[in-house]
Amino acid sequence: MARYTGPVCKLCRRERTKLFLKGARCESSKCAVERKPYPPGEHGRGRIRETQYLIQLREKQKARRIYGVLEKQFRGYYKEAARQKGITGENLLRILESRLDNVVYRARFAESRAQARQLVSHGHFRVNGRRVTIPSYRVRTDDVVTLKDRSKGMIAIQHAVDTSGQRSPVEWMDVDADARKITITSLPSRVQIDTQVQEQLIVELYSK
Ligand code: SF4
Repeated sequence: MARYTGPVCKLCRRERTKLFLKGARCESSKCAVERKPYPPGEHGRGRIRETQYLIQLREKQKARRIYGVLEKQFRGYYKEAARQKGITGENLLRILESRLDNVVYRARFAESRAQARQLVSHGHFRVNGRRVTIPSYRVRTDDVVTLKDRSKGMIAIQHAVDTSGQRSPVEWMDVDADARKITITSLPSRVQIDTQVQEQLIVELYSK
C-alpha cells in the first residue's frame, strides 16, 4: 500500500497544529509548529478566507494525516463507516483506531505511527500467533498482538517504551510492556479516543 513520503512537519504546519508525527521531536523546542506557526509556502502568512468547505476539508486532511492514510483508503473507510450501524463519524474513528499500526503506537511500542507502520511491515508483530505485515490490518476484540521472540529485545521498541510515558495509556487494550503483549479488550468508543478531530465535519464533507 502506498504511503506519504514527503516532509511531515509541513503537514502539521498546514493544519496549524501538532499532529505528533515524529515522536520525541514533537515534544521538543525543535518542533516546526512552534518555530514557524504559520502554513508552509510563499503565501503561508497571507490571509486565508475560511469557507465552510475549507474548514471541513482541513478537518478531513488532519484526520488522514494523523493516522497516515492516503485519500483513497480514507474514503473507503468513510464508506464502510457509513454502512455500519451507529454514528458515522464515531465508526470512522473506531475503524482508524483498530488499524494494527495504530494499536502498536497506542500501546507505546513505537514513538510514532510511522515507526509503528515500519515495525509492522517488517514483520515484527504477530496477531493471535500469526505473522502480520499489513499496517492497515484491523484488530478485533480479544485479539492478542505479540512481538516475534527475536524482536523482543529491539532497541527501538525499548526506547519507545522508555520514552512514551507522557502519552496516556488507552483503556481499550491491556498492555504488558515487559512481555511485549497487547490484548484488545474492546474496540474504543468516542470518549476513549483522544484524537483532536471533529469527525462530524468529515462526515459533512463526504456526504455532499
Ligand atoms: Fe508535527 Fe512533530 Fe514536526 Fe512538530 S515535530 S511539526 S508535532 S511532526
